[in-house]
Amino acid sequence: MADSSFDVLVIGSGASGLAAAVSAQRAGASVALAAKGSLQSCNSAKAQGGIQAAFGEDDSPEQHAEDVCKSSHETADRKLVEILTGEATSAIHWLEELGVEFTRENGGYRLARCGGGSRKRLLQVGDRTGHAITTALRENAEGSDIQTFPKSPLAELVRTENGWRARCGDHTIVATTVVLAAGGRCFRVAEERGELSTNHSGATGEVTQIAVDLGAEVRDFDALQYHPNGGAWPKNMQGYSIPETTRAYGAVLLNADGEEFTDSLGPRDAVSQAIVEEVEKGKGVETPDGRPAVYLDTTRISEADANVSLPYMLRRYRAGGIDPLRKRLFTYPVLHYQNGGLVIDANAETTLEGLYACGEIAGGTHGRNRMMGNSLLECCVFGRRAGKAAAGKAKA
Ligand SMILES: Cc1cc2nc3c(=O)[nH]c(=O)nc-3n(C[C@H](O)[C@H](O)[C@H](O)COP(=O)(O)OP(=O)(O)OC[C@H]3O[C@@H](n4cnc5c(N)ncnc54)[C@H](O)[C@@H]3O)c2cc1C
Repeated sequence: MADSSFDVLVIGSGASGLAAAVSAQRAGASVALAAKGSLQSCNSAKAQGGIQAAFGEDDSPEQHAEDVCKSSHETADRKLVEILTGEATSAIHWLEELGVEFTRENGGYRLARCGGGSRKRLLQVGDRTGHAITTALRENAEGSDIQTFPKSPLAELVRTENGWRARCGDHTIVATTVVLAAGGRCFRVAEERGELSTNHSGATGEVTQIAVDLGAEVRDFDALQYHPNGGAWPKNMQGYSIPETTRAYGAVLLNADGEEFTDSLGPRDAVSQAIVEEVEKGKGVETPDGRPAVYLDTTRISEADANVSLPYMLRRYRAGGIDPLRKRLFTYPVLHYQNGGLVIDANAETTLEGLYACGEIAGGTHGRNRMMGNSLLECCVFGRRAGKAAAGKAKA
């Protein structure tokens, strides 16, 4: 017996789930949103670096799409990529309408270049961009008639005659359509491998498995991404992802001899691989507790850039007794992101009718190697699409 019934049920309260819920509600649907822990607990809120959109005068959605496809080694779904980059600027304006204030300079947005990017395209809110985006989305969701179910993990999803029945914690929820926005699985995989991860503890992947058991298709599922710059020392920074914007603002990777051994702003997989190989060649360094590492020379970042775009990173390291503007940091790749996931179409519908997926749980937009700054963008672009389409189908 269901205790609640809705047009749309969204699973997950990260940027993609919140964007889907707000968008479905605005399209006139009754919406429930269930999350495993508190509504605040997600990877999206941890995102520091920023979100990509082609606002530069020398830039375009087409150029952005080229960079995505090239960084993915031509494994991304070009149709999804063109939607991602084509709707990027309108997604930014939507976020602004919801209350996000991006860092500005000289009358425009402050833009940085990301690894794999040919143009400066990364918008930031200091270095707490994900926190700003999820706060604005959550406040909009909580200020609307969306019904939220925190601490209600999805454990079972069953197709019914008119839609779906979900068991979420102590609740049974029926809905005409369902949007899966439960993120990736890197926290669980890192634990299984005995490695560090940047992810929050809810990133365990069981919702993908529920969808797969129902018959949904996945793609590039084995492609997990290492963030090139995991913090390796001090101990309380192990598993922290040093924002890629450090490199956008001048930091470079150095080996034990102080030599630059790779293009510090190359695609993520290339940079991570270069670090691992440098250590294997015996040209790495060791942290005080014996972990492998190379140096990230953050002393090359100007104080002005750091104060505007890296204040959180500075605070965290300085609290641990290290000033990144005076001392090079120890860094080594750390498990970070699930590149592949559930197959979706342009409306974020999975291969199962009435079941949608957006954000890290979905595959295709990044192929086998994501560029930084495109995940928050994907959450907003495809979250909005999923919410709108799920509402439309439920109300049809
Ligand atoms: C440290 C860090 C820094 C990052 N920096 C950037 C950046 O600068 N730019 C960028 O674009 N991307 C960045 N990323 C990646 C990006 O933040 C995430 O990939 C993206 O935000 C994922 O959003 P999501 O909504 O798909 O999932 P999440 O934000 O992880 O949210 C998943 C939600 O699903 C819930 N959930 C999980 N299982 C269940 C279940 N069984 N039942 C119900 N709910 C469930 C979780 O509790 C959570 O609410 C970063 C990631 C990390 C970890």
